[in-house]
Amino acid sequence: MDEIEERALKLIRRSSDGILQNQLWKELEIDSRRCTRIIRRLLDAAMVERESVVVDGIRTYRIRFTGGTRKFELLIAGNLFDPCVGCIDECKPHRCAQLNKWIRGLGAEL
Ligand code: SF4
Repeated sequence: MDEIEERALKLIRRSSDGILQNQLWKELEIDSRRCTRIIRRLLDAAMVERESVVVDGIRTYRIRFTGGTRKFELLIAGNLFDPCVGCIDECKPHRCAQLNKWIRGLGAEL
């Protein structure tokens, strides 16, 4: 994430109800096309969501911060991905070494 994207994200996060896209590019002192590209990257990273709105007769977008966490990140403990995803072994969770190792990655003790 470059400096201008970080500034954009800070502005978006600051407002609980989001910020209008045409307000955002003015505050960042960049043109609307560059702002659109930044928003696209933040959308792709699931850090923001966008809603089409009309304000004072002008169509724009309201950009809201979404928390910045991709759902799959919840499946990562330490550097290990949840071993149950795609597992085809006979499941005995209380004896599963892979699951125990993953849980230890969460910082929990068994
Ligand atoms: S607990 Fe172990 S055996 Fe069961 S699904 Fe997860 S990884 Fe597979």
